[in-house]
Amino acid sequence: MNKEDFPILNQKINGRQLIYLDNSATTQKPKQVIEAMNRYYEQYNANVHRGIHQLSLRATVAYEHAHEIVAQFIGAKFEEVIFTTGTTEGLNLLAYSLGKDLQPGDEIVLSEMEHHSNIVPWQRLAREKNLKLRYIPLTAEYRLDLNAAAEIITRKTKIVSVTQMSNVLGTINPVEELAGLAHARGALLLVDAAQAVPHLPINVKGLDCDFLVFSGHKLCGPTGIGVLYGKKELLEKMEPFLSGGDMIKEVTFEHSTWNDLPWKFEAGTPNIAGAIGLAAAVEYLQTIGMENIAQQGRELTRYALEKLSTVPNIQLLGPATAEDRGPIFSFIVEEMHPHDVGELLDSEGIAVRGGHHCAMPLHHKLGLVGSTRASFYFYNTREDIDALVEALQKLWKEEMEITIDRNEISSTALSEEQELYKENILDHYKNPRHKGELAIYSVKHREFNPLCGDDVMMYLHFNNGTISNASFTGQGCVLSQATASLLTEHIQSMPAKKVKSLTREEVLSLLGIPVSPTRIRCVLLPLKTVQRGIEQHETGN
Ligand code: PLP
Repeated sequence: MNKEDFPILNQKINGRQLIYLDNSATTQKPKQVIEAMNRYYEQYNANVHRGIHQLSLRATVAYEHAHEIVAQFIGAKFEEVIFTTGTTEGLNLLAYSLGKDLQPGDEIVLSEMEHHSNIVPWQRLAREKNLKLRYIPLTAEYRLDLNAAAEIITRKTKIVSVTQMSNVLGTINPVEELAGLAHARGALLLVDAAQAVPHLPINVKGLDCDFLVFSGHKLCGPTGIGVLYGKKELLEKMEPFLSGGDMIKEVTFEHSTWNDLPWKFEAGTPNIAGAIGLAAAVEYLQTIGMENIAQQGRELTRYALEKLSTVPNIQLLGPATAEDRGPIFSFIVEEMHPHDVGELLDSEGIAVRGGHHCAMPLHHKLGLVGSTRASFYFYNTREDIDALVEALQKLWKEEMEITIDRNEISSTALSEEQELYKENILDHYKNPRHKGELAIYSVKHREFNPLCGDDVMMYLHFNNGTISNASFTGQGCVLSQATASLLTEHIQSMPAKKVKSLTREEVLSLLGIPVSPTRIRCVLLPLKTVQRGIEQHETGN
């Protein structure tokens, strides 16, 4: 639907037509949004609320109009829509401002499927104020266990904060029901709607949530702009988050009073271009119709569930039926690291995401370090799903195995000498040297790449300042594992001082092939682990 509005989609990646399936991370921008932002910069760029000249007046009108458009889009009042930098800032604002009224022993209820941005601010608050965090568990069908929720949300609960659509599982949570549960116990309901607002018609009054946050960039808008909705009577009572210009009514040397809503929560020069872009995105979505977008999402979901279930050796996460589920599909390819799957799909022109998707606790709960995620938006088609399924099926044709493994390492054209290096990397991956715990070691040190879940533990034994033995354990992609193997071989009998000064270039030269910028971290993880291990040994920390 409307693919022609997205100039970026009309390009080839690795010689193939780009198929963009990373929409949960960020969506593409239609030319209507790009043009609206360009118009602002080309014709009326000025600061808002401060000038009386024509450009500033035009910018102010456009900025305030953007609030009106967004308010109407989610069924809120003008004063109830605050522009933030995104979902993350919205949740931090809420943790800060609502946290002020909480007392030791109060409880905050989250769910096990939350994004880090709906966990970490609450953890910090809980530590600071001695609060208790409780989590609504998942059922075997990857839905929230509402019976457990009814027990976990008690009179001690002050805040319930849940995602409306999981960015990993695609599960759509029953927000109205949770609002009922929370309100019956005197708690507030906060909704992380980062993934829901792009896909579903949202009416905050219908949901009866107290607060709702989302990001512009996930619904065809620009990055750096997001929305916090809050019930007016609650926002009025809350302390502002940031302070400075624009959020005040009056300032003396002694004290200040706060501006009216929504400006009370918008300190400093706002993201004017972002707001204009967001309004253009909302208007663009409204011309398509949110019901139509939701309908298209449901159709793609049904089709993807049917097709992906035919791929051997993949395990799909998330509800198996299309009911109450969005078009976000995370999956595990047996015996392959998500990073490697992502790179292989990229070589077919298919953009997906590999890693924990900012939901480490959920992945740990499922016993996984990460997953591969294909997430769809209305400009995706059934053909895109067919291409994904075909690429995944190809991964598992036995006769392709060697080629695939070799492509995981590098899919670009290599010289004859580099091809030999590539064989060597593959050999180190399949037959790692020095893998396993050392019986005797001086120090062990672990490093972890939070982006993709690569995990390396190094065991080092020293003798007179020399590394007399080194080994590693852990799991990760082909590059991180092969580098750990190559490196442990390379540093045997090397003075620790020399190992400490090994550079990234030296490690890359062990591999002998070009490594893409996104994979450099995979290669450098074993080096960092060894060098930090030596430091740990030297300092005794
Ligand atoms: N919550 C959910 C469910 C998300 O999917 C995301 C982004 O992926 C966020 C919060 C954070 O959004 P942002 O990074 O735009 O602040």
